[in-house]
Order: sequence, then structure tokens, then C-alpha cells
Amino acid sequence: MAAISSKNTTPELIVRRFLRAKGVRYRLHVPTLPGRPDIVVADHRLAVFVNGCFWHGHSNCKRAALPSTNAVFWKNKIRSNVARDRRTASSLRREGWKVFNLWQCSLRRPTSLVRLLAQVSDK
Ligand SMILES: [Zn+2]
Repeated sequence: MAAISSKNTTPELIVRRFLRAKGVRYRLHVPTLPGRPDIVVADHRLAVFVNGCFWHGHSNCKRAALPSTNAVFWKNKIRSNVARDRRTASSLRREGWKVFNLWQCSLRRPTSLVRLLAQVSDK
């Protein structure tokens, strides 16, 4: 499952660059937390996942369309990824973390990054 666990993907770099520019301190791929979150802002107990739309089954997203060959295989595979993401998120929440999912497709527009920044800004 190399494609799922791949690190330092371009969408992730976009998010990291953004946070760094805003002066937000974060850690990467923290192994001691459920799901090894891509980005962790410990000061705000926020775990950020940068999700590829296909692999994580983004609903109603063009990029998440399944290939027509081996449709059953892909359907099951993506479904189990989605289930795992859900379990990860509830484990994190149980441990007192907020979970923020950023979808690959949403990074084309600034809205989702602005929402992320709101989560990590001191009020
Ligand atoms: Zn998407």
C-alpha cells in the first residue's frame, strides 16, 4: 500500500508551506498517535490528514471515481481505507485530539487552508 502511506506528497507540501508561512509550529507523521497523522499541531491538539481523494474515498468527488476494471476489488479496498480512517479519527478524538481532514482536490482553492488556519490561530 505504498501509495497510501506515501510521505511528503505534493498536497502535503502545500499545506506545510502554508503553515510555515503563517508561523504555525507542527510535527510530521507522529508515530505515537493513531494513524500517524500527516501534520500535528500539538499546541492546539490538532491532527491534520492530507487525503488523496481516490485512496481515501472522497464522497462526491470526481477524483475518487473508481476504475471500471476490477471494480469490486477497488470498491472493497477504498471502503476498507475509509473505515480505517474513521477508526483512526475516533481513536484520536477519544485521546482528546481534534481531527482535520484536508482533501487533495480542495487545495486548489484557499478556503480549506483558511479553515485550517482558523483551527490553529490563537484567539
Ligand atoms: Zn476530492
